[in-house]
Amino acid sequence: MLTRLHFIDNESTAAADGRVLEVLDPSTGESFATIARGGADDIDRAVRAARRALDGAVTGLPFRGPWGQTDAAGRGRILAALAGLVAGHHQELAELESRDTGKPMKQARADATALSRYFEFYAGAADKLHGQTLPYQTGYTVLTVREPHGVTGHIIPWNYPMQIIGRSVGAALAAGNACVVKPAEDACLSLLRVAELAAEAGLPAGALNIVTGLGNEAGQALAEHPGIDHISFTGSGPTGERVSRAAAAHCCPVTLELGGKSAQVVFEDADLDAAIPVIVNAIVQNCGQTCSAGSRVLVARARQAELAERLAAAFGSLRTDTATNDADLGPLINARQRERVSGFLAQAERDGLPILARGQMAADLPAGGFYQQAILLDAVPRDHPVAQQEVFGPVLGISAFDSEDEAIALANGTPYGLVSGVWTENGARQMRLARALRTGQVFVNNYGAGGGVELPFGGMKHSGYGREKGFEALYGFTTLKTIALRHG
Ligand code: NDP
Repeated sequence: MLTRLHFIDNESTAAADGRVLEVLDPSTGESFATIARGGADDIDRAVRAARRALDGAVTGLPFRGPWGQTDAAGRGRILAALAGLVAGHHQELAELESRDTGKPMKQARADATALSRYFEFYAGAADKLHGQTLPYQTGYTVLTVREPHGVTGHIIPWNYPMQIIGRSVGAALAAGNACVVKPAEDACLSLLRVAELAAEAGLPAGALNIVTGLGNEAGQALAEHPGIDHISFTGSGPTGERVSRAAAAHCCPVTLELGGKSAQVVFEDADLDAAIPVIVNAIVQNCGQTCSAGSRVLVARARQAELAERLAAAFGSLRTDTATNDADLGPLINARQRERVSGFLAQAERDGLPILARGQMAADLPAGGFYQQAILLDAVPRDHPVAQQEVFGPVLGISAFDSEDEAIALANGTPYGLVSGVWTENGARQMRLARALRTGQVFVNNYGAGGGVELPFGGMKHSGYGREKGFEALYGFTTLKTIALRHG
């Protein structure tokens, strides 16, 4: 049985009250590790460690600590070393992630590669972030400088722990913040290892701390802590709202990434050979547990039958198996998530939605695992819960439209606005759709499920606000100071 503790001040450390939590393997439902069950005392210790790394021992004198004294090029060098260490431990990290989350090894390997790339990107960006000089009255020189918020809190969900620590902590460290991370209790192991590698890369003690535990204990304590200067949250809407309220009580800015109900819009002239594998992957990747999953397909009525038939053939051959057997789908993360997905499917059946295809389940799956096969539904009405709410499972719904305006209204017709995809060869229509869709990212004749590290990512409407990834994230992890010099 693996035992992992918090990582605070570059040391592995038990919870203040010694409590632990069991970690289940989603492929078997059996416990295989324990982690520390952190509370307010542990969060407080981590926040103090981060503050010391940044400001040193004396309060009121900022940036005197070892991390605060590390210049932008130095931060970049440490992140570059970390990118190299992550690449060197690629297999180990992928195995940890796969066991912990149930994702097939090929997905976990892709996540480990992405993690290294995030650190590489932000390593290169660290010393390219700068302010501006502004025209003002005669006799003045006015400039802006970008300064780190200070101690940043990162609340990370279980679906892509490595990718999400890469994009949020990578950018926060590059900008000069010290970080306190609260991973989901279901998926901490890879992140604890990443923090050890960061120490090995030369990150000063306290610059990156990880406190494990439950959301309503450690997570809530992090959001409420007055020493946290910025919070980056990825997860569900209700929890995002709770975190925002707690942060508002101490005037702490929050970046929210709250998932979506992303549509791929397929017009009459779409190249289905290109579109179908992308549409399938966008919903089955990580067993549908992806904030930017393409969970709706909107299709021009003239192509509905053809698209449905071809998607049904693809779905019928998708296989669900254990994480190590590396099939198209692994198990869902936990029993609660399986119940959630089953609930949506039961409602779809009760409401008579046609099930066009079911994927295959491998034989002899462990009885305790949280398995779900891929499901393709047709003729999903626009107001059905499957078309409106985040299922977070491998369930794709098809709906037809009769005009471009109807396609736009359907695509925009949910509370969410994270990502959308458009499939058409008509250039003017591509641009009209790209401008009309109320989502943070629009993909034309491709679908990136979040896109690469270079591409700013985040939502409109109930998908949240603020942007992660790309250079844009660095602006979010800094605050702008204006300095006006009167020199005559
Ligand atoms: P949550 O939003 O509850 O969890 C996300 C993160 O927030 C986890 O680290 C969690 O910790 C933490 N958390 C939970 N409660 C609090 C709190 N009171 N204060 C601070 N942090 C807290 O999502 P769930 O795991 O419950 O999943 C439910 C649904 O949310 C999914 O079915 C899916 O629809 C959506 N979701 C969306 C994600 C996305 O990428 N946008 C990611 C994950 C879920 P812990 O897990 O330890 O409780």
